[in-house]
Amino acid sequence: MPEPRLPGAELHLLDDAPMVGDGGARVIHHITWDRNASATAPQDLVPFDNLLGYFTGAGAGMAPHLLVDPFTGRIAQFFSANSRAKAVVNAAGGVETNRKGNVCIQIEWLFFPYCRVGGKVYATLADTPMRGLDRVMAWLRSWGVPDVWPMGAPTWSANRNAQTWNTRSGHYGHSQVPENDHTDPGPMPNIFQQEETVTPDDIKAIAAAAAEAVWNRPVKIPRMQPDGSIKYEGPQGAEWPLIWGNVFAKQSEQRDADLKAAVVTLQGTVTALAALIGKGGGAAGMTPEQVEAAVLSGVAKALARAAAAVK
Ligand SMILES: [Zn+2]
Repeated sequence: MPEPRLPGAELHLLDDAPMVGDGGARVIHHITWDRNASATAPQDLVPFDNLLGYFTGAGAGMAPHLLVDPFTGRIAQFFSANSRAKAVVNAAGGVETNRKGNVCIQIEWLFFPYCRVGGKVYATLADTPMRGLDRVMAWLRSWGVPDVWPMGAPTWSANRNAQTWNTRSGHYGHSQVPENDHTDPGPMPNIFQQEETVTPDDIKAIAAAAAEAVWNRPVKIPRMQPDGSIKYEGPQGAEWPLIWGNVFAKQSEQRDADLKAAVVTLQGTVTALAALIGKGGGAAGMTPEQVEAAVLSGVAKALARAAAAVK
């Protein structure tokens, strides 16, 4: 069986449940569309950790398999590949949606039209660097998803055909899924033939993501139980986001366990970085020394903050 978890993804697994199993491998693309901006009134992109908190908290009932930041390539995973996700509507009767086929992998791209990142405004996903796409596509292909849009590449207009959906494997937009009324993800770039060029900015973004993966990780907090015992409970509601260094997390076994998990996440990110560097036969325009320095600065930052947290 292919790998149920995308290599290098941060794992925040919810309740896996089986597919219908009636054949076919599909993907549904979404954008998080969490703000309404416009060309004349752009807004800053919402932080990745906000969405991570949402899909592991109040929004768990609408969680996809993957949350992907197309600007940094950071990826979080909420369900195994061969589980159903929950990000589309399934009406009574009609066709199956979330559970359709053997796999139906749903991806939320962290994006809304006219979001602003680093001072630049992006109208559609097609305008973004789509970092992380190559890792996502390799994983989707390993699950047998063919490089095809059975309903055509998505636009902002809904276009749904229940028979096509029921009989054809491939990539769909939320705008192309029967029984649904959302029109995301809007235009996407050619996801089947991406020219991957590694730039110094790519390296810096991944190194920064490595640091953030360690530092901005939710921790569990100790709570005294009626019988006097201590129970560690995860962040939810107003307690989000708790991060390393939170005083309530000091001197706890749970904190140590979470630190180990954070290091695993860091290792996954570094693995992804190594894969990215290996793909192009070397980072374009950078010497090996420059690549190493960029990576080490991110890792050193992560480790320094983690060390401060456990003092
Ligand atoms: Zn959607």
